[in-house]
Amino acid sequence: MSDCLFCKIVSGEIPAKVVYEDEHCLGFDDINPQAPVHVLVIPRKHVVSLSDADAADAELLGRLCLACAAVAAQKGIAEDGYRVVTNKGEKAGQSVFHLHLHVLGGRRMAWPPG
Ligand code: AMP
Repeated sequence: MSDCLFCKIVSGEIPAKVVYEDEHCLGFDDINPQAPVHVLVIPRKHVVSLSDADAADAELLGRLCLACAAVAAQKGIAEDGYRVVTNKGEKAGQSVFHLHLHVLGGRRMAWPPG
């Protein structure tokens, strides 16, 4: 989508610190990290949120989860533990309307999340 921030990161129009990439997914450091490790894993394809994905996206959603695990291993947080979060909709805190999984780690996480 032409006016989507994360589509512009996929195309390279907007720079990002890319830490993971494959044919379908991209992972890059969050610009406003909430933990020592805070990476956003996104599909290259524009999908607004989890609720906008359909059965045809099942493989893509699996690939996104595997990409999160690869990022966690690469960042050295897989052993200690990490959290994967996606926010859907304004009430949940979604501010960028291109599906993204937050991979957070490097510190102890509180539960329940705020
Ligand atoms: P959410 O609020 O769940 O939609 O998450 C959006 C995330 O995108 C936030 O954590 C922002 O800090 C992050 N973000 C916004 N703009 C950029 C950018 N240009 N590069 C990297 N991360 C960004």
